[in-house]
Amino acid sequence: METAMPFERKAWESVGFYRGGRPTWPCPNCRAETMRIVDESFVVDETNESRDANLAWEPVDGPQEEVYRGRFSCMLRCQTEACKEPRAVVGTVSYAPAGEDEDGAPNWEQYFLPLYVCPSPAIFQIPAGTPEGVIRELRRAFRLFWCDPGAAVNGDGSVRS
Ligand SMILES: [Zn+2]
Repeated sequence: METAMPFERKAWESVGFYRGGRPTWPCPNCRAETMRIVDESFVVDETNESRDANLAWEPVDGPQEEVYRGRFSCMLRCQTEACKEPRAVVGTVSYAPAGEDEDGAPNWEQYFLPLYVCPSPAIFQIPAGTPEGVIRELRRAFRLFWCDPGAAVNGDGSVRS
């Protein structure tokens, strides 16, 4: 009997990263944890609300980083030579304290939190020999689960509120 793989989703759930962190993620094709960000694909932009808040910012109000909100997108690529599978990621950007300087003041750095991944992380490994139609439906369920864990458990496709 085949043992269940750890949920690939765990590698993504509420796991953010700093730009210099160079994280790796599992590959949906070869399953190795060898997916890295393609540097030239990394794009960050600030939201209008954040831009307005920063324009109105006064030094007495505290650190400017606390009002910054942005969005990012990037491509990942599997580093395994024989695979090179691509994956796309989008998410939010904020600033978070990443350690302290010598005076004990926090070092604020941009913090990236993935919200959507294509293809969506598998909730479990699909066993070899699974019919193509079932694989399609499972992948669809993985996508739904990623966006809304409640929606994927309703067999009739309805979405609970
Ligand atoms: Zn791979």
